[in-house]
Amino acid sequence: MAKRSGVVRIEANKCKGCGLCVVACPTKSLRLGSSLNRHGYHPAEFLPGTGCTGCGVCYYACPEPAAIAVFYVEDDVA
Ligand code: SF4
Ligand code: SF4
Repeated sequence: MAKRSGVVRIEANKCKGCGLCVVACPTKSLRLGSSLNRHGYHPAEFLPGTGCTGCGVCYYACPEPAAIAVFYVEDDVA
């Protein structure tokens, strides 16, 4: 049996650091990072192991095209 979870990839240099995805995430799996991207914004970061379900809310909340990609991972559960 497989259990599905999510992994999110943030393209740091396409992120404007608006924080909409951070606020929208129901599992608090995102935060704004401390480093600056090439445009001077603090890009969002994905926090592995925090229960991301792959719901896609962050993707739909983000106003920047191609800044967020959501992937599903199938974990085998014995
Ligand atoms: S896919 Fe859903 S749970 Fe995962 S980081 Fe985005 S909003 Fe949060
Ligand atoms: S919503 Fe998009 S632009 Fe805003 S912080 Fe999240 S990834 Fe960056």
